[in-house]
Amino acid sequence: MQRVSKKTALPWYHEGLRFECTGCGYCCSGQPGYVYVNQEEIKALAEFFRLSPAEFEERFVRTIGKAKSLIEQPNGDCVFLHPLTRKCLVYELRPRQCRSFPFWSSILKTKRTWEEICRTCPGCGQGPLHSLEEIDRRKQMIDI
Ligand code: SF4
Ligand code: SF4
Repeated sequence: MQRVSKKTALPWYHEGLRFECTGCGYCCSGQPGYVYVNQEEIKALAEFFRLSPAEFEERFVRTIGKAKSLIEQPNGDCVFLHPLTRKCLVYELRPRQCRSFPFWSSILKTKRTWEEICRTCPGCGQGPLHSLEEIDRRKQMIDI
């Protein structure tokens, strides 16, 4: 009988990936998209702005099916991207989606999807090497 190896296949990025954000703001701007937020994140951001969660949602959140996303400025920038400095106004409280980038399931799917993001994000493929454990830790923060 053909034996089946029990050894777990390692992902293609098992030797780690390089990433260091340059702060260019590209991924927070431009084409319309979603920045998903959960209730915990909404609560923390609301406290930061001294608003109730309901007030915060009314001003900064939209519903996408069963999910919630931060709204955008008319030019497509995230509502919390400063128009001049291009820095995140809520960096310390940025949602999991922003914290885990670029180690998302959709980006890590294949070497090609990683290389595609490396063409638009100047921090991908550069800077310190992140271990498989660190990549998986961030990947598990949100399923996108
Ligand atoms: S595109 Fe990349 S380098 Fe630029 S802000 Fe986003 S994560 Fe950082
Ligand atoms: S919350 Fe901050 S880091 Fe996240 S998309 Fe908006 S500006 Fe960028």
